[in-house]
Amino acid sequence: MEVVKLDLNCIKNTYKKRPCDSHKGTHGHALLIAGSTDKMGATIIASRACLRSGVGLLTVVFYPENKSVLFNSIPEAMYANSCVISDSSPYQAIGIGPGIGVDEVSLQYIYELYENKLPVIFDADALNLIAKYKIDWKKFNFRFVLTPHLKEFDRLFGEHDSESERRTTAIQKAKDLNCVIVLKGHKTFITDGIHTFENTTGNSGLAKGGSGDALTGMITSFLAQGYTTLESAILGVYLHGLAADITLQTQSEESMLITDVIENIGLAFK
Ligand code: AMP
Ligand code: MG
Repeated sequence: MEVVKLDLNCIKNTYKKRPCDSHKGTHGHALLIAGSTDKMGATIIASRACLRSGVGLLTVVFYPENKSVLFNSIPEAMYANSCVISDSSPYQAIGIGPGIGVDEVSLQYIYELYENKLPVIFDADALNLIAKYKIDWKKFNFRFVLTPHLKEFDRLFGEHDSESERRTTAIQKAKDLNCVIVLKGHKTFITDGIHTFENTTGNSGLAKGGSGDALTGMITSFLAQGYTTLESAILGVYLHGLAADITLQTQSEESMLITDVIENIGLAFK
C-alpha cells in the first residue's frame, strides 16, 4: 500500500473555507472530556487548541473544584459536570482522554459513550482505559479516531518491535474496527485501513508533555465542524505540526511550549 506524504496539497484538498454568512451553529458544538483534579493543564491545552481550530461552541466536562481555574483561563468555553449523551444533546463530536486517569470514575465516561452516535476521538487515558478494562470494541457503534503514541498503541494492540510492524497492525486494526488510527511520533502515520498517510510537519519541540492533548483538541474541533474522521485526523496532524514549525521562528525546539504552538495555530491556517 502506497503511503501518501501528508503535504500542503493534501490539506488544500481537504480544507473547506468557512462561508462568510456562517454563524456559530454552522461550525459545530464539541464536547471535550479532559483533565482531572491534578491534571487541569490537559483540559486547558486541549480546550484552547479546540477553540483555536474553528469550532463554533465548546463544552468541557470539568471537576467542580477546578471551576474558577477553567473559567479564568478559557472564558470562551461552557462547562458541564457530567457527560450524559442523549439524542437531544447539542453536540456534534466528542473528544475524550487527556489527563482523565484510569480509575473506575473515568471508566464511567467510556460507558456513557456506548449509546452515543456522535463521532469520537479517543486519546491518552481513554485509550489506556480501553486497554486496562478490555473494553469490547463492538460497544462503539459510532465513527471514531484513535490517537495513540507508541506505548499506548502497544497497550491496545500488543507489543511490537518496530515502527513498520506497528504500521502494519494499524492498517489491519483500522480495517477490522472500522476506525481511523493516528499512530503518533516523529512522522505520524494515519490510516483508515484503506488509505495511509505519513505526516511531513512537526519537530522535536513537540516531544514534551501536553503536545498530544493539543492534537486531541484540534481533531475534536474538526469532527464537530463536520469533517469526516479521516479528514479531521489529516487536518489536525498536519496543522499541529505546522504550528510547531512556525513556532521555531520565535522559539527553539528546547524552549518551545505547547501553549506557544497553540498560539500559532492561526498562522498555520493562514
Ligand atoms: P503525546 O505523546 O500524546 O503527548 O503526543 C505527542 C505529539 O507530539 C504527537 O502529535 C507527536 O506526533 C508529536 N511529536 C512528538 N515528538 C515529535 C518529534 N520528534 N517530531 C515531530 N512530532 C513529534
Ligand atoms: Mg498523549
